[in-house]
Amino acid sequence: MMSEPSTRTGLVRSMARGFVGRCPHCGEGRIFGRYLKVRPECDACGLEMHHHRADDLPPYLVIFVVAHVIGYLILESELNYDVPLWVSLSVWPVVTLAMALGLLQPVKGAVVGLQYALGMHGFATLPGAKPEAGLEDAHLDRPGLDGASPLFRP
Ligand SMILES: [Zn+2]
Repeated sequence: MMSEPSTRTGLVRSMARGFVGRCPHCGEGRIFGRYLKVRPECDACGLEMHHHRADDLPPYLVIFVVAHVIGYLILESELNYDVPLWVSLSVWPVVTLAMALGLLQPVKGAVVGLQYALGMHGFATLPGAKPEAGLEDAHLDRPGLDGASPLFRP
């Protein structure tokens, strides 16, 4: 079913749609079948998503953000308040875990949206488009690239 024209959604909108768990192409179908399991394709527009390569980027970003926020909050609370040790030992691990688990799915969705917007991996081909109309082919067909570097020679 093709409910959307085959034009690529912009970077910010794609990542925003992914962040809220929606298909970056149409914004209607869901990305995730389970907590972190990406659906093979969008139920609404047919965008294939099984070839995404989010890999370690979502947890890396989540650790980066959560560590800075929690670290700052711990520092501020220790410097400004006389927090009992048992409170620190019971509150911060729970808050850290909750924040990390809460952010992991939205961040992974945003990473899938990023890959879609940039036409990375299998996202070069949009639903309803001919395979040769993808971004990767456009890069390969760019004139002057052949022989520009020894790395590109067959
Ligand atoms: Zn879709």
